[in-house]
Amino acid sequence: MSEQGILIVVSGFSGAGKGTLIKAMLEKYHNYALSISATTRMPREGEKDGREYFFVSREKFEQMIEEEQLIEHARYVNNYYGTPRQYVFQQMADGRDVILEIEIQGALKIKERFPEALLLFVTPPSADELKRRLVGRGTETMEVIRQRLHRAAEEAEGITSYDYILINDKLEDCVEAMHQLIQAQHRRVSGNLDFIEQMKSELSAV
Ligand code: ADP
Ligand code: 5GP
Repeated sequence: MSEQGILIVVSGFSGAGKGTLIKAMLEKYHNYALSISATTRMPREGEKDGREYFFVSREKFEQMIEEEQLIEHARYVNNYYGTPRQYVFQQMADGRDVILEIEIQGALKIKERFPEALLLFVTPPSADELKRRLVGRGTETMEVIRQRLHRAAEEAEGITSYDYILINDKLEDCVEAMHQLIQAQHRRVSGNLDFIEQMKSELSAV
């Protein structure tokens, strides 16, 4: 039987490059699966139901909470976002590591419920570079960029709750650093207690 997959939470400032990094990870390594969240926010232009998100009504979202279909959910800027349980658990049981790109409240709930989860915070090398990327992406007005930078300053307060920071300077290096951290997480003693027990019992029988 293949080893059970682990949960990897990726958070970070808007414009840090989370989407770009995760896409590059999935292209380079094939043992990672990306969870698709449910949300009550409206799709943006170009977004497709079931690809970026499952876009659901508020009633449907509340029903999902009630029926315990979500492993975590949070309210973010007047909308709900949550991680569907079934896909995540199935992928982990199949031995795949599952990436959740979620904000900090959700990240902390995941850590509480799944202490073996790996929490990564993605940041560009400097605030100037963050601004350059947000402007360069061209998806937000200057006013929204200003709000997002302001929010980044608040989010920076939460970084110490994460396990590692990933500085997304050169993309390929960041992909490698993320992959290495995940591999190291698999080798943590606390996540391998069954193996250790098995080894002990085999050794006592030698
Ligand atoms: P996020 O998902 O964190 O909001 P994006 O993945 O949309 O961020 O990236 C924001 C912008 O920064 C995009 O225009 C993207 O092409 C660019 N970008 C991402 N990673 C890097 C990098 N390592 N170096 C330079 N630009 C990058
Ligand atoms: P956006 O509306 O820009 O797509 O996402 C807003 C924020 O919600 C981002 O920080 C994103 O990471 C976060 N988010 C997306 N899906 C989930 C989820 O399932 N749970 C939580 N807690 N946050 C999410």
